[in-house]
Amino acid sequence: MPTFRTRIAPTPSGLLHAGNAVSFIVTWVLARANNGQILLRIDDLDADRSRPEYVADIFKTLDWLGLDYDEGPSGPDDFYTNYSQQLRLEHYHDVLGMLRNTSHLFACTCSRRQIRRNSQDGRYPGTCHNLNLDWWAPETAWRVRVPDTTKVSYMEWQQGQKNSMIGQGMGDFVLRQKNEFPAYQLTSLLDDLYYQINFIVRGQDLLPSTAAQLYLAQLLEEPAFAQATFWHHSLLTGADGEKLSKSKSAMALKVRREAGEGPEGLYRLAGEWFGLGGCSELNDLVEGLRLKMEN
Ligand SMILES: [Zn+2]
Repeated sequence: MPTFRTRIAPTPSGLLHAGNAVSFIVTWVLARANNGQILLRIDDLDADRSRPEYVADIFKTLDWLGLDYDEGPSGPDDFYTNYSQQLRLEHYHDVLGMLRNTSHLFACTCSRRQIRRNSQDGRYPGTCHNLNLDWWAPETAWRVRVPDTTKVSYMEWQQGQKNSMIGQGMGDFVLRQKNEFPAYQLTSLLDDLYYQINFIVRGQDLLPSTAAQLYLAQLLEEPAFAQATFWHHSLLTGADGEKLSKSKSAMALKVRREAGEGPEGLYRLAGEWFGLGGCSELNDLVEGLRLKMEN
């Protein structure tokens, strides 16, 4: 068996909330229960939204939650010097250039409004497929062509093999954005490959991203990604039933931290996701999950 390798991958575009915390906790517990390794990967490619205070909030939150990790930046300075995705831009662009030389990409100048207007089902309607637009013109995105019949398969933790008809789901997706930055689907995949991640914990809202990244891995002839196990966990909702959002700062963990609250309530929530009621200690969660996996 290869070593279990997973990652905690926050984005420094807002203050972290309880949903982020529970996702980090279950990732950590799974890794420790499997004698695995954890990478801290901070996705800061979106330079417009990424802020140093949010990077600092990530380290403070992990510390408050008591979650350690085996690989990744030790703090903000180490992050900016050695781990920022901005340092890997050249690599992302090299891969984009390689893909551009295949028949799978096309240049697209559609605005969101045009796509909404021309689409029957919200998917990209193929407007620019055969226009051979200039790759390098301003305000041009690069999309990957996803034929309607495209299907990908992956392993879902505790459930087994799942299939996704990505052609009918997400459709042609963006790999290089109009601002010339590589898109999340590309950078997340390349980073997971680079760090040899083989267990990916993420929210159910990222199911379409998983499908897109599996398809992209096929195009890049990187079979390792399809060997990974995924857990698409449910999402925490606020009292109003709405998905938690980084923009609602009242829900921020920073507020709880600064009010002197501890993380026990979040451990209990993580325990419920594993079917382990009443755990308010990290070690109890790890032991509980170990026992559960043995049976
Ligand atoms: Zn277009």
